[in-house]
Amino acid sequence: MLYLGNLPLNVGAFHPMGTNELVLNRRLLNNKKGFEYQKHVFAILLHEYLHSLGFEDEQQVRKLTYKICIENFGKNSAIAEAALTGPWVDLSEEDFDVIAPELNLELIKDFEKIDINYII
Ligand SMILES: [Zn+2]
Repeated sequence: MLYLGNLPLNVGAFHPMGTNELVLNRRLLNNKKGFEYQKHVFAILLHEYLHSLGFEDEQQVRKLTYKICIENFGKNSAIAEAALTGPWVDLSEEDFDVIAPELNLELIKDFEKIDINYII
């Protein structure tokens, strides 16, 4: 299950261990810059998904995320770069000044539809 929440800007997302939930930082998506967030969202969700599979070590997860991205999209792809840098490289100091008033979790409906047959 995927949620959007107002997290501190230095947090991309988190996975509560032992659950099937990922919480993605709405504030990163709502940033006014309008730059390519899809590459960051993909890298962040992949990272958290690996945590949900039981990988707890942060360094190992970062390496696996990068490895999966370069193997599937190429070393010079925007997604591999996003996996390496994270979304924070594109933010300014002012972006970090805004304080989120509350978590305000929102469930993304149909994120994982059961009728999709990509898992064999
Ligand atoms: Zn992590």
